[in-house]
Amino acid sequence: MSSESSRSRIPEAVLARAPKVLLHDHLDGGLRPATVAELAEQTGYEALPTADPVELGRWFRDAADSGSLVSYLETFAHTCGVMQTEEALVRVAAEAVEDLAADGVVYAEVRYAPELFVERGLSLDAVVEAIQAGFAEGERRVAAAGGRIRVGTLLCAMRQHARALEIAGLAVRYRDAGVVGFDIAGPEDGFPPTRNLDAFEFLRTNNAHFTIHAGEAFGLASIWEAIQHCGAERLGHGVRIVDDIKTDSDGTVHLGRLAAYVRDRRIPLEICPTSNVQTGAARSIGEHPIGLLARLRFRVTVNTDNRLMSGCSMTSEFAALSEAFGFGLADLEWFTINAMKSAFLDFDRRLDIINTVIKPGYAALR
Ligand SMILES: [Zn+2]
Repeated sequence: MSSESSRSRIPEAVLARAPKVLLHDHLDGGLRPATVAELAEQTGYEALPTADPVELGRWFRDAADSGSLVSYLETFAHTCGVMQTEEALVRVAAEAVEDLAADGVVYAEVRYAPELFVERGLSLDAVVEAIQAGFAEGERRVAAAGGRIRVGTLLCAMRQHARALEIAGLAVRYRDAGVVGFDIAGPEDGFPPTRNLDAFEFLRTNNAHFTIHAGEAFGLASIWEAIQHCGAERLGHGVRIVDDIKTDSDGTVHLGRLAAYVRDRRIPLEICPTSNVQTGAARSIGEHPIGLLARLRFRVTVNTDNRLMSGCSMTSEFAALSEAFGFGLADLEWFTINAMKSAFLDFDRRLDIINTVIKPGYAALR
C-alpha cells in the first residue's frame, strides 16, 4: 500500500509499542486461561476439560480451530460458565484492561452479552455495573503503572434469543456510565438482523450507536440488511463484502452496488483476521480479503475478536498481517486511525486520542 511497505518484518518490540485501537473484542473471549481455571474452582464450575492453565489455553485454541462457527461458539460455554458472579465479572473485566494495555492498546471497545451472565441470579443491571467497576479498576491499575488506556463498552444481544429490545434499553440507560454502543452477536445463519428491528429503531430514536455482526459466516444479504434495514454504523467482520467485488484477469476491480455503498459511506469494517481463519470465513491470513479491502481503501480496522480462543493479540495480528501483506508502520497507523475515527466515543475525545497519542506514538517509532 504505502511506499513504506516492504516484506521485511517490523520488529516485534516496535509492533508491541505501536499505539493500537481495538473496536471488536469479546470480554468472554479474552480471559486468561489461569483465571478461567481459578474462577472455575472458586465458583464450583465443574465442566472444564482440564484445570491446568497451559493445557486449558491449548484446549481453547484447538476447539476454536475446528473450522466451524458453531463449535467455535461452544468454547464460550466454559468462559461464560465461570462468569456468573459479581466478583468474577469484576476480575475478568479488570484483567482484560490490563492485558489490552500491555498489548499497546490505547482505546478499546470491549463487548459482551449481559444475558449470558445471569444463570446464577444476577440481574442485567448488576452484570453491567460489575463489569463497569472492573473496567474502571483496570484503567486505574494501568494508570498507576504509568500506562494509558480508555475502554468503552458495547452491550450485545444474542441473535438466537429474543431480548434485543431489552438489551438496547440497557445500553441507553448506561450510556453515561461507559456503555458506548450496542451489537448483536451469535449465529448469523437463520437469524437475520431484521429480527431485531424494534431494537435498532429504539436505538436510533435515542441517538445511540450500534454495530452489527454481519458478513462473517453469512454473505451479502446479511450485510445489506444490517446497513439498509437496521441502520448499522459499523459492520462486525463484514469480510463477505468481497463477494460483491470482482477482479478481472487483467487485475481491473469492479465494485457491486453494495460494496461501493459501503466504501463510499466509509462504513467501518471490524476485521478479525485470525478469528476469520478459525471459523472458515477466510482460508488463511495470506488469502484474507483484508489485503484487497485495504488496497481499495475501504474503512478497514484490525481486531482480535476472541484473544483466548484465537491465542492472539493486536500485536500478533499486526505482525501476521505485516508479514502476509507487507504492511509497514504507515499502514498500521492508517488501520489505527481508521479505528479511532470509527469509535463510538465522543468526537472531541476521538480527535484528542488521534492527535495526542496515536500520531505522536507512530512518529516516535520511525
Ligand atoms: Zn465478534
